[in-house]
Amino acid sequence: DGMNSLMLNTDGVQIPQLGFGVWQISADETERAVTTALQAGYRHIDTAAAYGNEESVGRAVRASGLPRSKVFVTTKLGNGDHTRAEEAFDESLARLGLDHVDLFLIHWPVPQQGKYVQAWKAFEKIYRDGRARAIGTSNFTVGTLTRLMDQTDIIPSINQIELHPYLQQREMRAFHEANGILTEAWSPLGQGKGLLDDPALRVLSDKYGKTPAQVVLRWHLQLGNVVIPKSVTPSRIAENIDVFDFILDAEDMVAIGAMNRGHRIGPDPDTFG
Ligand code: NAD
Repeated sequence: DGMNSLMLNTDGVQIPQLGFGVWQISADETERAVTTALQAGYRHIDTAAAYGNEESVGRAVRASGLPRSKVFVTTKLGNGDHTRAEEAFDESLARLGLDHVDLFLIHWPVPQQGKYVQAWKAFEKIYRDGRARAIGTSNFTVGTLTRLMDQTDIIPSINQIELHPYLQQREMRAFHEANGILTEAWSPLGQGKGLLDDPALRVLSDKYGKTPAQVVLRWHLQLGNVVIPKSVTPSRIAENIDVFDFILDAEDMVAIGAMNRGHRIGPDPDTFG
């Protein structure tokens, strides 16, 4: 199916580099969208307790007929659950109808609440018990990741952050690389609007005969990011995984690199939650 996998710092665990994100897909629509994605060849689904659609994700995965070991499922701990992470994890597993997840993430650090170290200690137990094959963070900064690593035993396998050509996160990517942490890009298409109409991407779209979305996803893959584009439109779901048959030249990687504006679409992780 042309998919590529990356090795996590967790012994032997691999993550399909391109997955399917289900934020803002209603519980009703999610089962259909995930089924479409699995049929199109996706083998990695990104959900969260906060998305309210774990049940639908679980139903689609279980009904797919694919062996459980062939689908990588990520969910995330809600911001109000840092002091009851184990119970919240069990509730997520029950909603998913699965006996383990492949990756469990702290959704946001919520630094003003100050409980993410406590949450991570529960994550370490969940990992050691084999109920999450890997554990990681989302929306952590150099500051919050450094504190986490100073006060706990297991280095996160991945940090999922907002990342797209308008917010390239060079400092975070370098920090992750120096610590053996994979970078996972959320809103990898910049949520579609604006970015995908940028004239610089139009030029590359014409050059490669691929859509602007495909060019952006290819850029992520060549940087080494894990990406989780979201769509409910079957043609776009198929389009977004059809990115393994071309390679952006070095000069075009540089051209996309020049699009960085340092602009967030989503909230600031130092204050959100
Ligand atoms: P995205 O960058 O994946 O953009 C999705 C939107 O882009 C779609 O709704 C659609 O409008 C458009 N689009 C998709 N494919 C297209 C195509 N081929 N051509 C043209 N337009 C297209 O944005 P997202 O949903 O915010 O992010 C993806 C996933 O990242 C989420 O579903 C979720 O799983 C994850 N996420 C995580 C966090 C976090 O805090 N950890 C935050 C936001 C998103």
